[in-house]
Amino acid sequence: MLTKPPITFDVVARDGDARAGILTTRRGIIETPVFMPVGTVGTVKATRFEALEELDARIILGNTYHLWLRPGVDVIRAGGGLHKFIGWPRALLTDSGGFQVWSLGALRKISEEGTEFRSQIDGSLRFLSPEVSMEVQAALGSDIVMVFDECAPGKATYDQARVSLGLTARWAKRSRQKFDELQLEGSDMGSIGTTHPEDTRLGSPHCPVAAPAIPALSEELTGAQALFGIVQGAAHRDLRRESLERTVEIGFDGYAIGGLSVGEEKPVMWEVIDEIVPLMPPNRPRYLMGVGTPEDLIEAVAQGVDMFDCVLPTRNGRTGQAFTSRGKLNVKNAQWTEDQRPLDESCLCSVCRRHSRAYLRHLHQTGEMLGGILLTHHNLAFFLDTMRGVRQSIRSGDFPEFRRNFIERLTASGE
Ligand SMILES: [Zn+2]
Repeated sequence: MLTKPPITFDVVARDGDARAGILTTRRGIIETPVFMPVGTVGTVKATRFEALEELDARIILGNTYHLWLRPGVDVIRAGGGLHKFIGWPRALLTDSGGFQVWSLGALRKISEEGTEFRSQIDGSLRFLSPEVSMEVQAALGSDIVMVFDECAPGKATYDQARVSLGLTARWAKRSRQKFDELQLEGSDMGSIGTTHPEDTRLGSPHCPVAAPAIPALSEELTGAQALFGIVQGAAHRDLRRESLERTVEIGFDGYAIGGLSVGEEKPVMWEVIDEIVPLMPPNRPRYLMGVGTPEDLIEAVAQGVDMFDCVLPTRNGRTGQAFTSRGKLNVKNAQWTEDQRPLDESCLCSVCRRHSRAYLRHLHQTGEMLGGILLTHHNLAFFLDTMRGVRQSIRSGDFPEFRRNFIERLTASGE
């Protein structure tokens, strides 16, 4: 029996190994390669959702671990799922919590069953497992769910990485099973097809607010959540291959490479990407988790990666660092005190069109909230515009030139 899938993915152009695709989710169409801004606790920090729409962000991330601890599943269910709770009608991807729990280091205890740890909020003892992670992600109602995995440190020995990937494979199977059960039970709060459009209204009768419209569901899709598998194996290429094989055997809607950018040397990351990406199913989206700088994104696209997320544009925006086409610019520097130029003279974002480096430096020096907001906006614009340029160049067959020019400009001296 042929059943509809929760997402579709079509590669529409190739240039070398780089590919441009169309990922259709139940909440709209996403052109790939795509950068997904990170919305850890239900907010892309210092950014209004209207601004994300202005930047044409089609998909953002939410963190299962953080949202599970606070505000908790009950509050989000009562709010009608994460989309409604935060007022974002477009696509959401949630991670599984595996990475955050791993980051707790000595504060967590891992067993076959799952991971026990103390909440950073109130010190209570909590337990996260594949089943719990799938339940939380069903309550969040995200459009793309990630399996619960165990992340081995970048410098894990062969034996450590081997044990870890075995656990990840068994957890992936349990994630798949629980996920399927929850879909059948109808626990997915973001399901499309069963909700009524009027449910999406924001505001109250006394204070009406324009409702963000949910995109119409493509007839090709089920309206259910999609589930992505995660490849682990630290820096060991044969373990990475084994992890990929075992993940593909279970079968997922997309495949992610996890456990990179976690303490290993940069060349090691590229070795793993080199080895694994060409072996990933060509007809499914490939997602490189937690990476990276603009130059990393371009290089990974050249290897055939389709999806990225990273906290860099938002985190650096709050600490006074701008990403520009000519490299990083620190607004704290005294040299910008009277500089009337925009952050990036080739950027068309609303911040660069309106404000000078001098003003942005002033905001930073006086500790004004707006400083971080404006810098974050520009940084997100830079990442999203870069990916737009990448997509266009792949479609028009001049990605190698785009890549060369981009890197040359970035590394050229001067501002
Ligand atoms: Zn800008």
